[in-house]
Amino acid sequence: MPELPEVETVVRDLNRLVLRAKVKRVWLDVPKFKAVENLVGRKILKVERRAKYIIFHLDKNKGFMLHLKMTGHLLLGKWSWPKKVGEKPVGISPFAATEPINRFIHFLLELDDKRMVGFSDMRKFGRVEFGELDEILNHAALKKMATDLIFMDFVDFKERVLKRKRNIYQTLLDQSVVAGLGNIYVNDTLYKAKVHPKRLANQLSSLEIKRLYECGREILNKAIKLRGTSVDDFRDLEGEKGNYGAVRLIYGRKGEKCKKCGTIIEKIKIGGRSVCYCKECQKI
Ligand SMILES: [Zn+2]
Repeated sequence: MPELPEVETVVRDLNRLVLRAKVKRVWLDVPKFKAVENLVGRKILKVERRAKYIIFHLDKNKGFMLHLKMTGHLLLGKWSWPKKVGEKPVGISPFAATEPINRFIHFLLELDDKRMVGFSDMRKFGRVEFGELDEILNHAALKKMATDLIFMDFVDFKERVLKRKRNIYQTLLDQSVVAGLGNIYVNDTLYKAKVHPKRLANQLSSLEIKRLYECGREILNKAIKLRGTSVDDFRDLEGEKGNYGAVRLIYGRKGEKCKKCGTIIEKIKIGGRSVCYCKECQKI
């Protein structure tokens, strides 16, 4: 599932590649509605990330917001434009647009220079919402979100963590506590900070919370620099994989040796999700 570093990678690329382009036409795999038609002719002024949402700011107060959810990703390329209901766009170029993982296009935006932005989402959990920009920016989904870990100050982080009576693993995943951390980066943060995933958040020491805060930020910033993780399905705007997966600390490394102490890494389930940890480095 794309997390903060993956979404940040896409947003930075969009700002680099599609700014000032105008929307020529829009295709959706569901019946069109007026808000979509309203995008035609509008200029892309800015693309913004809020937590894991991608917000396109267009001129004349228009915009749209995307959430990639499980398998969604945006691609820049060219597709055949569907001519009748039920027809699907077919990837033409670059190669990425024709890769199987990228063949699930649900939304296509053609720009005035003939390039296209396609939204591919195999499992169809992703969301796109269109409308007036000011309304999108005040969307209820955005209001529920806490600040990103990379922008949150330590005092705020500590206060939020200490209010929770559940385990620290689920606390860090909770986007209303702190935004941007998903499973991969929470696994690695807990390991690096030497905190057992099942420890209760409100029972952690100040020093442990400080370590979580610092390690979490370090890991997110490193992952942004490496353009995200593609252990699952993530691809960047040009169809390339992220590079954090190769250097990840513990996520998905069950059965391998801990790099710090050599103990075999174990996996447990918390709230239905798998968490890898080292029982020597992360004591309960
Ligand atoms: Zn260890």
